[in-house]
Amino acid sequence: MNDVRFLPVSKMNPEGFSELLSPFRFTGQGSLNDLTAVKIHPGEEGNSSYIPASLVRMIINALDLPERRTFLTDTTVLYGGRRMTAPDYVSLAYDHGFKMPELPPFIVADGLAGTDEYLVHLPSHCETKITRLASALSRTDNAVMVSHFKGHLLAGFGGSIKHLGMGWAAKAGKLYQHSSVMPYVKTDKCTMCNACLSVCGSSAIIPATNSVRIDEALCTGCGECIQRCPTGAIRISWNQESHTFMQRMVEYALAATMATKIPVYVNFLINISPDCDCMKNEGPAIVDDIGVLASSDPVAIDQASLDLVTAAAPFGENVASGQDKFLHIRPERDGKEQLVIGERIGLGSRDYRLVTI
Ligand code: SF4
Ligand code: SF4
Repeated sequence: MNDVRFLPVSKMNPEGFSELLSPFRFTGQGSLNDLTAVKIHPGEEGNSSYIPASLVRMIINALDLPERRTFLTDTTVLYGGRRMTAPDYVSLAYDHGFKMPELPPFIVADGLAGTDEYLVHLPSHCETKITRLASALSRTDNAVMVSHFKGHLLAGFGGSIKHLGMGWAAKAGKLYQHSSVMPYVKTDKCTMCNACLSVCGSSAIIPATNSVRIDEALCTGCGECIQRCPTGAIRISWNQESHTFMQRMVEYALAATMATKIPVYVNFLINISPDCDCMKNEGPAIVDDIGVLASSDPVAIDQASLDLVTAAAPFGENVASGQDKFLHIRPERDGKEQLVIGERIGLGSRDYRLVTI
């Protein structure tokens, strides 16, 4: 059973972070030449729930990361927007405050266009055999995972496991994970408003006679259009696709832990929105801010995060009290499957001891 350390929101200051992360401090550990990645999500343009630069700075200080050997990083995405290629992504990160000299440089981990890969073979008990991770992992000695715990359209919720599995994948790896998620249009619900066309970075949505249609050859399964459709006309057949998506994402998470040392996972339980930081409109928080968790176990920290959100008093009548709020919002997406798969394939343990700071 691993410890999950918990810093309540009222103690989120430099002293609190220092105590939270004291068991994981880098001082005197490893070689002076070690390269350390701080894996963040700088937020899509228009998103406001991402973990801000000032809090990332506090994490770096509390861990005492070597200043000139540390870099911030993330990977490019499959869909249109400012995170699709490295130049635009670096500029977006800058606009969101992730810039020198206040912070280490932000370096995109999978190359200029997301095609720089590092292949990692998984053990035989996994369904995926070869993973295509971001090439930066091949030269990274340590990684610190800084995740925002919140809802997610396809995974139910997103925390450390999703940040590992999807977040370290190169574009081909993301495509592999998403390829089981092929949306369809329920034609009688489509009002031809065209809102979905503007968010599809793959030009896969095509206007037809009485509704739009999706070209399966072009669709990457990113799910952006599902979120955007105001009438719920774009759907997924969840039962089969959800399992495949979760399995692949968690297996990619395992691969990332095989590619580099990850001594600490940090989950921020603030601005807990129904949708993720990839969304321009992530929606209002579903519970009050809770605090920050730290652990060496990605499964334990996500389980503890889910338990704390479940126990929190809800905002709004549409969120259940004392129940899994993410499942209440999306009954077809049980994010706990990530935890079950993660434990089964050896990524971590759902048992944990909560240590409150
Ligand atoms: S059709 Fe939807 S899921 Fe497919 S690529 Fe376009 S936005 Fe993404
Ligand atoms: S957003 Fe929904 S209703 Fe509007 S065109 Fe697309 S599928 Fe139809």
